[in-house]
Amino acid sequence: MKILKFLKNLSYLWFVGIIGVLLDIDFLVLFFLFGLFGFIEFYFIYVKIRNSDDNQYFGIIIQSLKMIIGQPLILLSCGFKLPNIKNYSPIEYYSLPFNNTWLTVNGGIDKANSHSYNLFNQRYAYDFFIVDETELSYSGDRKDLNNYYCYKQDVLAVADGIVVDLKNKFSDTPIGDVGTAGCSASDIRGNHIVIKHNNQEYSVICHMLKDSFTVSVGDHVVRNQVIGKCGNSGNTSEPHIHFQIQKGKSFYLSAGIPVFFDNIEIINSENNKGIHITKDVMVKNIML
Ligand SMILES: [Zn+2]
Repeated sequence: MKILKFLKNLSYLWFVGIIGVLLDIDFLVLFFLFGLFGFIEFYFIYVKIRNSDDNQYFGIIIQSLKMIIGQPLILLSCGFKLPNIKNYSPIEYYSLPFNNTWLTVNGGIDKANSHSYNLFNQRYAYDFFIVDETELSYSGDRKDLNNYYCYKQDVLAVADGIVVDLKNKFSDTPIGDVGTAGCSASDIRGNHIVIKHNNQEYSVICHMLKDSFTVSVGDHVVRNQVIGKCGNSGNTSEPHIHFQIQKGKSFYLSAGIPVFFDNIEIINSENNKGIHITKDVMVKNIML
């Protein structure tokens, strides 16, 4: 290993080749060949992947590739017309996946407010967490997950449906520096659940707490049923719920759909049927 590292460092000698070209000295031009030792770096990357816990790096590389390959396939499956609030007729109107009032941290129906406008599967995704009067999402030590208001809060089914996918294997990602997100799992979604509501609408909820699920694949769920708890697994900066509606079961191959909510309360909104929400608003379900 030490010899490999030494050889890899020798690769920087290729710079001497530039001097050879500039001064027209053939012997020095040969130093470009040292650049070949640079390929040893790939071996070190391979070793890192092989030794990593849960093959985290490998998992995320594969996931990124799936995401890239999925983009054109999603476009194709929609006949190059991605869903938007004008061309999409909802089959289901949805509730919010939590009790009480939460803040919409990310998400909206237009480009400016979108969670990830250029990722077609997450174009209409939302992130939610709970804040206090000072708009802080925790009290006390910000590195302690238990200090976050939404941590371990119940997560609810957003409509009736059947659980078609569920992953429950990742521990929480530790809180990093302010403004940074981390991922200690091999899946950016962390622990997640996919519920089929009808033939073309599936809800996805990510970053859930390990071993908190109260349902399994194949279970029928009803609207507002507790399905698990909010955690901090996957790629996340702090505990929150990532929620989206997509056209199919596959996270990578399904277009995101603008969510039409029903019976929810938004500050400053009177009409509550078929409404859309946009980031920075406080929202809650109107429990009937
Ligand atoms: Zn998100």
